[in-house]
Amino acid sequence: MADRPRVRFAPSPTGELHVGNARTALFNWMFARHHGGSLVLRIEDTDESRSALSYQVNLLDDLKWLGLDWDEGPEKDGAYGPYKQSERLDLYADHLKKLIDADLVYPCYCTGEELEEERQALILSKRMPRYMGKCRNLNTGERDALAAQGRKPSWRFKVPRKTVEFSDLVRGLIRFEGESIGDFIIVRSNGMPAYNFAVVIDDHLMAITHVIRGEDHLSNTALQIMLYRALGFEPPVFAHHCLILGRDHAKLSKRHGSVSVGEFRRKGYLPEALLNYLGLLGSSFADAREVMSQSEMVEAFSLERASKSGAVFDEEKLRWLNSVYIRSLTADDLMNRLWPFLRRAGYQPEELDPWWLKQVVETVRDELTALADIGEHIALFFDSRYRMTSEAKQVLDSASARKVVLAFGEYLDTAAGLPLEIYAAAIKHARERSGIKGRDLFMPVRAALTGKVKGPELEKVFAILGKESAVKRLKQAYP
Ligand code: GLU
Repeated sequence: MADRPRVRFAPSPTGELHVGNARTALFNWMFARHHGGSLVLRIEDTDESRSALSYQVNLLDDLKWLGLDWDEGPEKDGAYGPYKQSERLDLYADHLKKLIDADLVYPCYCTGEELEEERQALILSKRMPRYMGKCRNLNTGERDALAAQGRKPSWRFKVPRKTVEFSDLVRGLIRFEGESIGDFIIVRSNGMPAYNFAVVIDDHLMAITHVIRGEDHLSNTALQIMLYRALGFEPPVFAHHCLILGRDHAKLSKRHGSVSVGEFRRKGYLPEALLNYLGLLGSSFADAREVMSQSEMVEAFSLERASKSGAVFDEEKLRWLNSVYIRSLTADDLMNRLWPFLRRAGYQPEELDPWWLKQVVETVRDELTALADIGEHIALFFDSRYRMTSEAKQVLDSASARKVVLAFGEYLDTAAGLPLEIYAAAIKHARERSGIKGRDLFMPVRAALTGKVKGPELEKVFAILGKESAVKRLKQAYP
């Protein structure tokens, strides 16, 4: 291991940050922090038609929200910049020239349609679709003639017909046969570098020691190693972690549900919980703990231990972790984080008595599994939002429930004192009057007071509602 490893996270700003990519970022970050190395953030924006600045802005924002900081890259200085591929085009051009001079590449004049025809023909004859090298041996005259037709060439790498082998930190020895790989494009006809070309030059010039990424890049690695050799560069160490899968064991995608960090953020998952969950997936930790802080994850992280088989994404498990983190926040921290969600749910928190609102939030905190659910949890404390659910109606629809609730209300009519004392005495009174105990005693009172059959502790609810509101609700239950 290099003394101070340098790793990189290299997203393409073509959409919201996918949790799979966030996990790649997390693995790189944990690796860098565990070994006291550096994490480089590189923006791979050479696909002009799909890249957008707004995605880049979101991406940085999501990484910061998750608590994943980088040492070099956008918004940071560094000795290896620029860190955006669109600002490094001259470097790619220089290296293309080197490969041209060494006769390791050639211009290809095939059009998109011609390539597609070739592909279809290979598929029809049950052969592996790949570029068969039509332009590999053109002479100067033939090239000039094609160029004269107005065709703009791309540049293809002459793939050596040799086996490519590398030792992957997660997967062990990996081997690809050069025979099965067609000459691939390294610079497109519009002059932009292809991913495999740009990434090799950048990883080399940025002195990256370890490339940690998803196993969907394994076949790219074979091509990249060929380019390292052609350019006379030493390849870094590679580690391909497993992908996140949906319940059907296919790669996690939109049809499985939420997939972007932004979506989980909007649902009210805490960054600590999401990060913890992504770290646990295909666990790469030394022990079986499930709740781990950032620093504990860094401490326990090991690439060699990362699972080779895919990890199934389970939002229920994430929700459980989220509730654990929600419970551990201080009251003020929780309130700050809830603020935007309260507003989004149509509440005006700034107009409410802060002390009262704090009581309300503390009362429902243990049931909260995602911050965006706050609106429905606290609705019962607001007369304008209180609604009787059908389950609660059903509970109230019996003679014994009626007896309990009327007796409870009867006591309230004349009661005075502190809310908790009133509540206890009213329950006692209802029990003695009706002769009903246990669940059959509490459930009707709960249904009448909250409009629901489950929820926070009833005495706390009563204390917040106060006697007046309680009386009003009991009257509404049995008008
Ligand atoms: N821009 C590539 C991606 O987002 C980077 C892959 C790599 O890490 O080399 O998939």
